[in-house]
Amino acid sequence: MRNLPIITLLLQTKSRNQMLEITDHVQRLVAQHQIQSGLAIVCVPHTTAAITINENADPDVKHDLLKKLDQLIPKSETYYQHDEGNSDSHLKTALIGNSATVIIERGQLVLGRWQGIYFCEFDGPRGIGKGRFGKAEKRGGKSNGD
Ligand code: ZN
Repeated sequence: MRNLPIITLLLQTKSRNQMLEITDHVQRLVAQHQIQSGLAIVCVPHTTAAITINENADPDVKHDLLKKLDQLIPKSETYYQHDEGNSDSHLKTALIGNSATVIIERGQLVLGRWQGIYFCEFDGPRGIGKGRFGKAEKRGGKSNGD
């Protein structure tokens, strides 16, 4: 298997629960690294943050999604045992997942008209959250080795 380069994206969040759109960041990385085709695997190495792809046209979608998650997964439950007090954050992360894969074609992320890539913060605010972006291959299927 080819050695896949990993590019780290540093993010900052402002609230405990937040959906931060990172589509432009990822597209910029694709351009900077001259990736013409392949796969962008966007993942987060935290246990209380997630990655998802969802609508980026109407901000109410983010609001509704976060509200529904709060309703489904309350901050405290009498049966929570995890003593960090953030069981809800871990549960939300488990539900949403820690990665999304996006096809790259002709140097562009292949996303639907209304789709955006989101870093989902569930235990913020966080000073620096790391998202990782791995590329599958470069133009002509050759890796540049970085
Ligand atoms: Zn915890």
